Amino acid sequence: MGLIDQLLTLYRVDSQVRGLRTRVDNAERYLRVQDRQLEQIKSDQSESELHIRQKEATASNIETERDGYTERIEKLRDELNSCTTSKQYSAVQTEMKSLKEQADELDTQALEILEELDTARGQLALVVESATERVTIRESAASDLEQRRIDVGDRLSELEDERSQAAAAVPEKALTIFNKVADDTEGDTLCEVREVSRRHREYACGSCSMELPFDAVVRLTNSDNDLVQCSGCYRILYLAESLKGELAK
Ligand SMILES: [Zn+2]
Repeated sequence: MGLIDQLLTLYRVDSQVRGLRTRVDNAERYLRVQDRQLEQIKSDQSESELHIRQKEATASNIETERDGYTERIEKLRDELNSCTTSKQYSAVQTEMKSLKEQADELDTQALEILEELDTARGQLALVVESATERVTIRESAASDLEQRRIDVGDRLSELEDERSQAAAAVPEKALTIFNKVADDTEGDTLCEVREVSRRHREYACGSCSMELPFDAVVRLTNSDNDLVQCSGCYRILYLAESLKGELAK
């Protein structure tokens, strides 16, 4: 078997291997995206929960402080009864008024924080909901990946064996070029030469349409062992058997 035939054999099995792997790769990539999104949502959730706990602690501190004022006001109210002079009476009243103002101020603060807490709890509920949805999507992505692995598994390992055999038949230098082009073109490695005009000796790359020097066509006609690449897209060129036969006449 000439080099070109060896490469064609390798090309056919290589592109099948790549096709199957792509199905699995895509499912893996999709699952990774879901994992990252879920991680982000979980981190948003913990942040939001921490924020709520801090607000709750602040609200509780304010309430304790406010209760302290209320207690002191009650005590002063009792003292009012034991006041003997109007001066004392008015002094206690003034202090009570001032404490009441401070307690009211704390009530206002507590109310603001409770409102903020309501908003924060509403946001947390949305985050939790979106986490639940994301978990469902992630599970379905994981089972899809598993199914694809099962679907392609046996066939893929068969093809990989065939690919190794086909690759073993190709000389090292040509194989290096093949692998490089295969990676760059996602497996679209070999390409048939297109005849534009025999009379004008015009031939082109069947993939990128770059015009080929006639010398390249001559080499491909005369030898089965010349590796000729398109100078535009670097694909490995070959002649269809029928065209080759006609040109060889
Ligand atoms: Zn080309």
